[in-house]
Amino acid sequence: MTRVVMLNDNSEAFTKKVNEMTNDMITLCEQCGICSTSCPVAEDMDIPPSEIMRLVQLGDEYVLETKAIWVCASCYTCTVRCPRGVDLSKVTEALRQINLRTNVNYLDIDNLDSEEVEELPAIALVSAMRKYTG
Ligand code: SF4
Ligand code: SF4
Repeated sequence: MTRVVMLNDNSEAFTKKVNEMTNDMITLCEQCGICSTSCPVAEDMDIPPSEIMRLVQLGDEYVLETKAIWVCASCYTCTVRCPRGVDLSKVTEALRQINLRTNVNYLDIDNLDSEEVEELPAIALVSAMRKYTG
C-alpha cells in the first residue's frame, strides 16, 4: 500500500539525530534494496528494511510507529551484503531507543500469559526485556 510521506518542522532534526546515533549510516544508503531482499524476517515486517532507511533519510517519523523496527533480529545479513557498508541493525536499534526513551515499552511483562512465561527460557525473557523495554 502506498503511503504519503509526512514531513514537518522536525524532519531534518530527526534525520540528523538518527544519523548521529548511527555514526552517519543514514547518509550512506543509496536505496539499492539489497537489504530488503536479503533480510530473513522481511516477510514479518510491515515495511521492508530499505524503506526504514528511506523514511529516516526523508525525516518521516512514521518510521517510529512501524512494526519492522521491532522485528529486526540484528542478524547482520543486510550489513554483510550492503554495498555501502550500512549497519541497518544499528539503525533499528537507534529507532527503538528513541521510542523507549519516551517511556513507552513495546513489551508489557505484566500482561504476558503466566504459563507461557514459565515455559520460556530465562535468557529469552532477559533478551526481550532488554530489547523491548526502556
Ligand atoms: S543494502 Fe545498504 S545501500 Fe542498499 S538499500 Fe539497504 S541499507 Fe541502503
Ligand atoms: S539486521 Fe535486521 S534488517 Fe538486517 S537482515 Fe537482519 S533482521 Fe533484517
